[in-house]
Amino acid sequence: MYIISGCLLGIPCKYNGGSNDCQWVKDFAAAHDHVVVCPETAGGLPVPRHPAEQVWMPLDWKAMAASAKPSGIAGADADGPAPDRDSPEREEVLCIIDREGKDLTEAFLRGSMACLEQVLLEAEKRKFETMSLSPTNMADGIIEGAILKAHSPSCGSGKIYDGTFTHTLTAGDGVFAALLKAHGIPVYTEEDGNHFGYEEEK
Ligand code: SF4
Repeated sequence: MYIISGCLLGIPCKYNGGSNDCQWVKDFAAAHDHVVVCPETAGGLPVPRHPAEQVWMPLDWKAMAASAKPSGIAGADADGPAPDRDSPEREEVLCIIDREGKDLTEAFLRGSMACLEQVLLEAEKRKFETMSLSPTNMADGIIEGAILKAHSPSCGSGKIYDGTFTHTLTAGDGVFAALLKAHGIPVYTEEDGNHFGYEEEK
């Protein structure tokens, strides 16, 4: 069983109301057992919504003036007490902030946890079905992997947008991708078509 980002299958759950339709992923889904997820909408976020990125913020950022937003976020107040991002003593916490400066961390975590529960439940159902058919051949490793949307703050794997809202990538995993990896589930993206024997889309 595979886990697949809904937007790659044409579901309009992307922040702007569109999708990230990917033909090879759709072909793959047609041929493989899979579960469709969208961690952001599962967390209660609407469609459309403002784009969001992972941002390292000072530990006390909420206590700072509301104008202390990271650079690159629309509406940031240049007169506010901007965090000193270069301070070696600075303690940081990873947050999910939308382009308007709204903290969406809780919704992202809630959605990723909900999707993990959904996936584990589906895996348990399949394990049960397999046991019913063949008690001596109980399938381990029901979840074979995930194919998620590259660079997303939820679904990205290995590289994500860096929190400046300038389409700049940095090393990191989306919240949901990190959760899957912590559970030992291999995570791929639509950029890994070759791994599955499909032509990658340019
Ligand atoms: S990248 Fe993930 S969270 Fe974002 S729209 Fe696609 S499935 Fe939903």
